[in-house]
Amino acid sequence: MLEMVSLKKSVGKINIRGRLTVDEPMAAHTTFRVGGPADIFAQPEDVVDLRALLQFSCGEGLSPFILGGGANILVSDRGIRGLVIDMSRFSSISIKRETSVEQETLHVQAGLPVSDAAAWCAEQGYAGLDFLYSMPGSVGGAVWMNARCYDGEVYNVLTHVDLLHHDGTQERYLPHPEDFAYKVSPFQDNRRVIVGCGFRMTPEPRDAVWQRMQHYRADREQKGHFAAPSAGSMFKNNRDFGSPSGVIIDRLGLRGYQIGGARISDRHANIIINTGTATAADIDQLATFVADRVHERFGFTLEREVLRVGQWEE
Ligand SMILES: Cc1cc2nc3c(=O)[nH]c(=O)nc-3n(C[C@H](O)[C@H](O)[C@H](O)COP(=O)(O)OP(=O)(O)OC[C@H]3O[C@@H](n4cnc5c(N)ncnc54)[C@H](O)[C@@H]3O)c2cc1C
Repeated sequence: MLEMVSLKKSVGKINIRGRLTVDEPMAAHTTFRVGGPADIFAQPEDVVDLRALLQFSCGEGLSPFILGGGANILVSDRGIRGLVIDMSRFSSISIKRETSVEQETLHVQAGLPVSDAAAWCAEQGYAGLDFLYSMPGSVGGAVWMNARCYDGEVYNVLTHVDLLHHDGTQERYLPHPEDFAYKVSPFQDNRRVIVGCGFRMTPEPRDAVWQRMQHYRADREQKGHFAAPSAGSMFKNNRDFGSPSGVIIDRLGLRGYQIGGARISDRHANIIINTGTATAADIDQLATFVADRVHERFGFTLEREVLRVGQWEE
């Protein structure tokens, strides 16, 4: 406890242009709308700020948590000890023609909502990110997760990733096929911050791209994605199980099952929703309950897709 008090006091050592707060409620920054306070919460304005924050973390012996849109995390009720770096102010976007490959590339910073990036590209008359339209989360989070939907996967359009190591050095990473798989990227060891990246663009009439994107949005609405706070699919799919996780959970008749304020969506069995009063512990217990029932009945071990973040154990 004393350690945390002195850590919060050392906030004065951080000199950045961006916003800095202590005891920031993480519920305000996650799509589940749950999560206790982050000791120190920073929104760097630029790479100079980001470097200063990483240097501070190193000096304090902390490993910072990098926050995108908070759409794939479950933050504990006790919150996050140490430093959270929110990338939302990294939001520039532009398209450049790469003469070496005769190809247009989107250059976009990590904090921009990925759906906004898709909409911006469509307005300029480009497809490429359209499959991610209306998916919650940031560009950086989508790259970190190698997000996928509607037959698209981030890796398929990724040209490069600009990274900042915790020691402040920069790197431009070029994708290798062996580094990516279903919901796997090489950034999941959390040794580097994704600052920005490039995506391959394909020219296409604006209206045609928008038509597809409206279809994706309507499909998500129809599946209830925006009806209540959630983090999308709770569990990954596993081909070896023969059916998607949602179908397996459905076989147990668990739609509508509730623990506290956490409920298995009535519209999709692989989505846990916050009915309004859920705690992170409710959601965590419900996810464990589902995984246990599936294991008992079918022998499959479901792997969580939503990441547990923060202080879970005493
Ligand atoms: C309604 C709904 C529907 C969804 N549908 C889909 C879907 O169809 N397909 C799909 O794949 N996912 C889906 N998701 C999950 C989620 O949208 C994606 O996983 C998304 O890519 C998460 O991005 P984020 O920015 O919110 O990441 P966060 O949840 O903020 O973070 C996730 C991880 O990425 C790391 N991270 C984030 N940004 C950076 C960065 N700049 N540098 C380094 N590390 C970083 C974080 O540290 C964390 O470990 C859905 C979620 C919701 C709520």
